Amino acid sequence: MQQCSYSQSNTTKKITMDTTKKNPVYSRTDSSKVNMSDEEWRKVLPADVYAIAREKGTERPWTSKYENSHDVGTYYCAACGNPLFKSDTKFESGCGWPSFYEPISKGSIIYAPDNTYGMTRTEVMCGRCKAHLGHVFDDGPPPTGLRYCINGVVLDFEKAKAAEKKYKEGGEQKQ
Ligand SMILES: [Zn+2]
Repeated sequence: MQQCSYSQSNTTKKITMDTTKKNPVYSRTDSSKVNMSDEEWRKVLPADVYAIAREKGTERPWTSKYENSHDVGTYYCAACGNPLFKSDTKFESGCGWPSFYEPISKGSIIYAPDNTYGMTRTEVMCGRCKAHLGHVFDDGPPPTGLRYCINGVVLDFEKAKAAEKKYKEGGEQKQ
């Protein structure tokens, strides 16, 4: 009865993805830093996630199911569960990858200069586990003017279920 939406989303474990089953560090609430060797990561991540998160790969453009998604919710790091972006900062950049103009918080992302392939770019990584996510460019929309160009493979999306449910069921809760 007295549950707030925060504790509610923590106790409702309906997520049954491979990434959460055998990955010991995956958590959407634990913000402590993750420091694992590539060897350990290789054991717990699906091959496509590993290739981008740990080997700084890039998925083919226009292949992410999130690229055109307008669902309301939160995007998490697929490697460790760290919250990264909110759907209301997502925009259609036309670049072929899911794009956002602002991370969920300052510490959710870390930045590094990337001068590979003869380009001067800024790499963005997960602030919790240092998974490679993509790059940030300065041709985004207001208010930030930034475009976080992110590989959809390294994103986990969760719809804002609590709000949706409340709306549909008039706030009633089953226990
Ligand atoms: Zn992460």
